[in-house]
Amino acid sequence: MRLKNLEINGFKSFSRKTVLEFQNPIVSIVGPNGSGKSNVVEALRFVLGEQSIKSMRGSLGSDLIFKGSKNLPKSSRAVVAIYFDNSDKIFKLSNETGENINLNYDVISISREVYPDGLNKYILNGSEVRLKDINNLLSSVNIGSSGHQIISQGEADRILNASPRDRREMVEDALGLKIYQYKIKEAGRKLERTTDNMKEVSLLRRENAPHLNFLKKQVDKFEKAKEMQITLLSLYKEYFKKEDIYLEKERSSLLLERNKISSELKSVKEKISEVDVVDKKEENKNEEELKILEKKIGEIHGIKNEIEHKLGRLEGMMEMEEHRKEKMPEVVIKNSGEIKEIFDEISSEIEGAIVEDNIAEVKIILLRIRNILKEFSGNIISSGPRFSGSLSRPDHSKTIFPENPELKKNQQEILVEMQNIKEEENKIFEKIEILKRKIIQENETLHTREKEKFNFRVRYQELASSLGLISVKEENLAKEIEAFKNEIKEGSILIGSEILSYKSFEIKGSIDRSIQEELKKKIERIKIKLEDVGLGGGSEVIKEFEEVSRRDNFLAKEMEDLAVSIESLRKLMADLKEKIDIEFKNGVEKINKEFHKFFSLMFNGGTGSLSIIIENKKKSSVAETSEDEEEENIVQEQGIEINVSLPHKKVKELNALSGGERSLASIALLFAMSQVNPPPFLVLDETDAALDEANSCKYGDMLEKLSQHSQLIVVTHNRETMSRADILYGVTIGNDGASKLLSVKLDEATAIAK
Ligand code: ATP
Repeated sequence: MRLKNLEINGFKSFSRKTVLEFQNPIVSIVGPNGSGKSNVVEALRFVLGEQSIKSMRGSLGSDLIFKGSKNLPKSSRAVVAIYFDNSDKIFKLSNETGENINLNYDVISISREVYPDGLNKYILNGSEVRLKDINNLLSSVNIGSSGHQIISQGEADRILNASPRDRREMVEDALGLKIYQYKIKEAGRKLERTTDNMKEVSLLRRENAPHLNFLKKQVDKFEKAKEMQITLLSLYKEYFKKEDIYLEKERSSLLLERNKISSELKSVKEKISEVDVVDKKEENKNEEELKILEKKIGEIHGIKNEIEHKLGRLEGMMEMEEHRKEKMPEVVIKNSGEIKEIFDEISSEIEGAIVEDNIAEVKIILLRIRNILKEFSGNIISSGPRFSGSLSRPDHSKTIFPENPELKKNQQEILVEMQNIKEEENKIFEKIEILKRKIIQENETLHTREKEKFNFRVRYQELASSLGLISVKEENLAKEIEAFKNEIKEGSILIGSEILSYKSFEIKGSIDRSIQEELKKKIERIKIKLEDVGLGGGSEVIKEFEEVSRRDNFLAKEMEDLAVSIESLRKLMADLKEKIDIEFKNGVEKINKEFHKFFSLMFNGGTGSLSIIIENKKKSSVAETSEDEEEENIVQEQGIEINVSLPHKKVKELNALSGGERSLASIALLFAMSQVNPPPFLVLDETDAALDEANSCKYGDMLEKLSQHSQLIVVTHNRETMSRADILYGVTIGNDGASKLLSVKLDEATAIAK
């Protein structure tokens, strides 16, 4: 037996825990009207997941809870539990993805609770589950949610009254196709969710796209800027290294030049001051000496003049003496040889005077000539008319006149004096001569020195201006160094401190200034470009771009995955639909065979069959639409039509059947449906109510036939039906308003049923 027990506690009239055991194929529940039999059937519906409170004769969930009576308090909740045998592990439960969940229980217990606030709980083997899990689980054992296996009181002909579509559902349920329907629905819901997700993802991607594009552009820009930075860094290093070398070279060459010029300047300065000192020392020394000597010569002239004057006077005296003695004139004969000698002497003196620059010397020569002439003229006067035509110097030693010894002595002294003074004079002349030569020489030296001094001064000026030029150059260099430092600062702000390692940069090529200028221009061009691009926040932009693109990639992958799952869901749905279609058609055929058998059994002939019809249905969600749209919005639906043909009667319309005939026809159909795919149990709540005795017998036969495949729970007032049951439960309701259950014998049962 699949169905083992049913426990009812606090449900409707069952205030106390009541347990029904189903250990036999047919269990009958009997009892008087209003005792609570149908409540047992509803308890079964309830625990199997019935959602229509109305179908359980209530309007709110709380209506299902024992309301209490005079003697009994109301229940806090209604609990119904059902137990199934699962030793063959037939129960299956699948998860969202369709995989089976391991249900390794020998007994499956399903319990449902309802609370006064309408809250429902579903518990599977002690764990709370969802309603759909219960539906999923039960469909695996052919207990569908359409409730076709539970025929409530007065609902025997429900299948006849139902719409073709509802009938189709019941047939599907009976054929065990509901599980596929669930799967289709589930897949449909998933498809909807997946499509929604896809729309959301696509929307997100669309929303992200402009930002991503913007970031991409920024990143491209930044990467370009980074490339430029790398180029700039290398250019900067090359430029700085070359500039550094150049400036250092300039600096040291200027320093070298300065030192060279400074030392030369110093030595020139020293030389100038040396010359000045020598000049001051030697200046005028010889001149002064010359002046003293010339003064002495002057004095000697004075003395000589005095001596000559003295001599003149003396000679005058001597002439007068001679004159007195003229009475015995004597003739001094001068021969032409002597005269020539005198002329030659005078001429040579004159020649000497001509070439003499020194006036003092000329004067001396002139004085000598005067003396020669004086001597000669003295001779002429003394010889008078007896001149024989020759001139000669007076030769005092050969004077022919008798001499005054006194005068003579004086003359001799004067002459000696003269001779001495002349000698002194000659010495002085000699000194003067030497001194003059010295002066000339000195002047020459002075001149040379002046020239030298001038040259030094010129050189000094040259050097001083060179030094000035160097200072200017140094100033310029200092400015260049300052600019260089600023360039380094600027560069390191622009591309970081890495730039400071330029000294280790290996340079190629020359450090030509024009190349350096080119390099600088290049740097400036890149700097301008970099400024245009801008560097700020680059790493943050990259980070954000990576995040956003990672997210976009994730979303793109999600889109792909979603597209794949949409595709596979569609395929699954199509496969399931196809499977349902095929199994439905086959199932209907099988049902028809059974239906025909049961029908002719019940009606002693005649036929009953099901046919599949196609109905045009409007899509439910469509509001007001145009005609064309209306056509598009029409969907085709399969439905089931029941065809009956009673023996000996022309009636084929279901509506034209009598109450009993309707019951018989629907029982035949329900039993036929149960035969094809037998559910574990069937509940028949007074399905036999409308049957007469003969039909009750046939009904009893069918019950027995059915019970071979499904357990039967039969609520009945019919004795015939009761007689077919293996176990009879009697339900009574006492003054406390609570239903009670008791096992009864057939006779008791018939008594209780009344
Ligand atoms: P019949 O033979 O006439 O069909 P029955 O045995 O099927 O009768 P039920 O319809 O099962 O009787 O029981 C109806 C009884 O259950 C009524 O007396 C009703 O008052 C009682 N009942 C229904 N709901 C509740 C509830 N929530 N609390 C208490 N009693 C309830």
